Amino acid sequence: MSEPTTKSTGEAIAFVDLAAQRARLGARIDEAIARVFAHGQFIMGPEVAELENRLGAFAGVEHVVTCASGTDALALVLMAKGVRPGQAVLCPSFTFCATAEVVAWLGATPVFVDVDAATFNMDPESLEAGIAVARKAGLQPVGVIPVDLFGLPADYDAILPLAERHGLWVLCDTAQAFGASYHRKRLGGLGIATATSFFPAKPLGCYGDGGAVLTRDAELARLMRSLRVHGQGSNKYDNVRIGMAGRLDTLQAAILLAKLEIFEDELAKRQVVAERYDAGLAGACVLPTVPAPSRSAWAQYTIRVPAASRDRIATDLKSAGIPTAVYYPLGLDRQGAYRHYPRAAERLAVTEQLEREVLSLPFHPYLAPDVQDRIVAALRTALQRSS
Ligand SMILES: *Cc1c(COP(=O)(O)O)cnc(C)c1O
Repeated sequence: MSEPTTKSTGEAIAFVDLAAQRARLGARIDEAIARVFAHGQFIMGPEVAELENRLGAFAGVEHVVTCASGTDALALVLMAKGVRPGQAVLCPSFTFCATAEVVAWLGATPVFVDVDAATFNMDPESLEAGIAVARKAGLQPVGVIPVDLFGLPADYDAILPLAERHGLWVLCDTAQAFGASYHRKRLGGLGIATATSFFPAKPLGCYGDGGAVLTRDAELARLMRSLRVHGQGSNKYDNVRIGMAGRLDTLQAAILLAKLEIFEDELAKRQVVAERYDAGLAGACVLPTVPAPSRSAWAQYTIRVPAASRDRIATDLKSAGIPTAVYYPLGLDRQGAYRHYPRAAERLAVTEQLEREVLSLPFHPYLAPDVQDRIVAALRTALQRSS
């Protein structure tokens, strides 16, 4: 993520520069940590409740349940919904594994759906096909987990009514897109719940693991608050359901409170960096698209290049001191742990195409214009060499 890279020309460039943000926050982080040490409430201290309130106000959503990771956030919702064997939950194949992993944890069946080549997000037509495949396999489809990949909101205008027609709930995997908006509203209020992650490299990241669920449903929030602490009932030694140890550390909450203060500004900076890439790379390769209702949180800036030269382009950039990443090199539907689960079609053709073409460029709010110009120039040269 922020590892130094070997370089041959110029200074090493970070893929995600967490040190630049740390320098900007300065004493604010140290003070936040010192306050937690002073009160000593490391578990469920006052910062946890304060963060839940602030996140709710930021996203315009009534209930926020913080938790230990983005993965646990997804799991809390599925547990609260009582997801169980025999049920199917539809997920994109082109995503991070946690989206489908939590479905399998509960003994239910993830059914893999293809994505759209331009947005990288769940393709509603493939979703429709996946629901039919699940039913044909004797499974009961109960829910959909669209992913807001790389910071871009999924096609909710199509997915929400489609899910409703089939009687499915929608859980938004917004792990990469907290801060993004859809029809001018921050993500968090769509579907039955939104799960997000505070993993350090996400748009709003802490200094360890963390996550949260946002929901408008008071009863769902109440259930998740119990599940988060071992299915606690009215007191600590009255456990009324099977839960987990899923709390967010007070220290991480304190760090997130400090980071949330500059988050809005960082989102604006991310937008500027993305537009600068758009301008510099116009016509050179396939650039990310942001459909009209959406504003991206720009977790990644991911381009598409010819499959045959993708790895060579990455090598060229690396030797110029420019790190890149391939998210994701293989769809979940063909990975060892997941390939026995159903998919919407015999082959998820767009997923297979994207895994060979995608390349994510260095991206963070503090990417300086001159550094970005170096990246653009090196990429243009590498692309020319391959055409
Ligand atoms: C990061 C991520 C998660 C999991 O978040 P963790 O905090 O790492 O557990 C889930 N889904 C997607 C799409 C992610 O990118």
